[in-house]
Amino acid sequence: MTNSADFRVAVFAGDGIGPEITAPTIDLIRRAAGRTGGFSVTPVDCPAGAAHYRDQGEALPKPSMDTARASDAILLAAMGLPSVRYPDGTEISPQLDLRFEFGLYAGVRPIRAVPGVPVVLADPRAREMDFVILRESTEGLFASHGKGEVTETQATETMVLTRSVSERLHDFGLRLADQRREAGGKGRATCVDKANVFRAFAWFREIFDTRAKAFPQVTADHMYIDACALALVTKPWDLDVLITENMFGDILSDLGAGLIGGMGYAPSADIGDEHAVFQPCHGSAPDIAGQGLANPTAMILSAAMMLEWLGAEKGVAEAGRAGALMRSAVDAAFEDGGLKTCELGGDAGTDAVFSAVGAALDRAEI
Ligand code: ATP
Repeated sequence: MTNSADFRVAVFAGDGIGPEITAPTIDLIRRAAGRTGGFSVTPVDCPAGAAHYRDQGEALPKPSMDTARASDAILLAAMGLPSVRYPDGTEISPQLDLRFEFGLYAGVRPIRAVPGVPVVLADPRAREMDFVILRESTEGLFASHGKGEVTETQATETMVLTRSVSERLHDFGLRLADQRREAGGKGRATCVDKANVFRAFAWFREIFDTRAKAFPQVTADHMYIDACALALVTKPWDLDVLITENMFGDILSDLGAGLIGGMGYAPSADIGDEHAVFQPCHGSAPDIAGQGLANPTAMILSAAMMLEWLGAEKGVAEAGRAGALMRSAVDAAFEDGGLKTCELGGDAGTDAVFSAVGAALDRAEI
């Protein structure tokens, strides 16, 4: 697959701001592919989500699932609407179903300050923040999703950690830390847990320590989740790869996104052994949908991650280069501080961000 790779990408535009940030992102992917050559992307639309459930009675139709299963990668914008719920009161979240169905245990949440975008912390070192939260995404407390027991006097949800997933998660994180070390990074992997209180987390930590022996070049250490939350706001520039349980990772990811300008700047990937979903960390933001205010940066950066993953996974170097090109175009668009998105008090809406990134992409040297 060197000269003519064509990647079939299942696209879940979803709800709320999802569709308005999806179509222009596909356009940017095509433009990036046009710059590097060597591959093309065929997007396949996958209807799903809360509006689909409301109108058609199904949140994740089988044909969409089949398309996703047969695709090279899955690109997802946002799904769910607070006003549309299952009869038990829970929100429609097919993205969780995709994670469980495809075993997407490795939730990769890069927290990197985009040059020119204001960060929350005043310390100048905050601009150098560049770490990854690796959130286990198929079990942990979320294993209880839809299975919680509630009686008049008691409510119970059960956390589940398995050896098989924990081993693969730790290996993924240790490998990632090693790759980052090779690229000039810190090469530090930190197991984030609550091993001082829960036996399950002491066990999770033991597995980490055992797997870390195979990565002597990586600095492997531990943090309790509460200390880690503190470190995120006191010295995030020291962090590198944080490996953690699903619920802890869910919470830390939003905290991390807040550090770099908000949900509109935080991309993510949920990766399994055979499939991967790429989606911004934010939800469908129904409060701003249809107004042209949504910041598409997280979606563009998620698409960049997808191309880099496809490049590595399928051995198509041009796809990897196109992903890197998209990320550099985002940096170039924001770098001089002139492009200020609406959620940060500026007037750059969805179209303004897309045209600035598109222009940077077109003029980038490759
Ligand atoms: P979910 O539970 O699906 O993750 P959520 O309820 O946490 O979703 P979001 O939909 O992410 O919430 O929105 C939270 C807030 O952030 C809202 O005020 C929303 O308008 C804002 N927001 C989210 N994404 C963006 C974006 N891309 N651009 C601008 N504002 C956004």
